[in-house]
Amino acid sequence: MSYPKDLDEYNAAELEQELRQRAQKRSQGKCDYCNRPRDTPPCKFPHRHEAIPGNSASFKIVESDNFGGDYPDESVLPLPFMTREHATSVAEAINGGFPNNMPRFWRVVTGDYALKPGFEP
Ligand SMILES: [Zn+2]
Repeated sequence: MSYPKDLDEYNAAELEQELRQRAQKRSQGKCDYCNRPRDTPPCKFPHRHEAIPGNSASFKIVESDNFGGDYPDESVLPLPFMTREHATSVAEAINGGFPNNMPRFWRVVTGDYALKPGFEP
């Protein structure tokens, strides 16, 4: 399966329609690429297959500021999406190995979490 044309060949209206159709598929519990339900094995785009809302393997780990600053400069740990249980055990293993006063800590978030930026003067 593939798309009829490359994304840069779409005009703005077509691109918006394409994105709407993808969002609709995801809201129906289907992968926006292969169109199969979330509980099927991932296709060649596992990050899209696993990003379906309600997919149990849709959690990731984010590095953040341990002291709750306004500009935590967050980043995602480069791992595949995990179940909540898996991600929690990984984050606990990381945090548990460092002292409590570490400037950074790692926490579990959902796949659609928006990273908070660092300070930019
Ligand atoms: Zn898929």
